[in-house]
Amino acid sequence: MPIADKELKRLTEGNERFAEGKSEHPNLGEELRHETFHSGQEPFVAILSCADSRAPVELVFDQGIGDVFSVRNAGNIYDDIELGSLELGVYKFNIPLLIVMGHTDCGAIKLGVQGDRLHGYMTKVIDHIIPVAEAVKRRHPDLSGEALETEVTKSNALRVVEEIIEHSEVFRKKIIDGELKIIAAMHDLKSGKVSWLV
Ligand SMILES: [Zn+2]
Repeated sequence: MPIADKELKRLTEGNERFAEGKSEHPNLGEELRHETFHSGQEPFVAILSCADSRAPVELVFDQGIGDVFSVRNAGNIYDDIELGSLELGVYKFNIPLLIVMGHTDCGAIKLGVQGDRLHGYMTKVIDHIIPVAEAVKRRHPDLSGEALETEVTKSNALRVVEEIIEHSEVFRKKIIDGELKIIAAMHDLKSGKVSWLV
């Protein structure tokens, strides 16, 4: 079976339940809490996603305690700390699947599209998005509004995938050895549906 097919299927099925309002909220019981505490965690997926309160990954994929090694920040961007955290999860727990997920109506993406850096440390986040937005605007001068934001969100997630592979020797080795798959994803906040950007 190709790498991470089982894990992708588990996420797809969980997201379908979530989008249809049929979440089962698995792996949340007291027993499992005790079990994962005593025998440790075995997450099957690592996800880099946005801090937006409407995009909690465990709920979006209908998963529970011990399932997802989750790294979140505004705009699902990455820097050394995020990359180190993802490497830790993937390496320590032999996680075969890493997802970089953006979402519609993303505030960080909107600011990047507008070129509004705000102030304080917020500029550091927006500075990651601005070059992506500028590149998309050059490639698609016809796009504006929501369509432009969606394109920038997709482009940002795909770029993060490319760059973390480029920067992480740990991930490159695992990919070559057939032990890791990394893919980008897009979460539609309105429908709740996640699509894989492959
Ligand atoms: Zn966001």
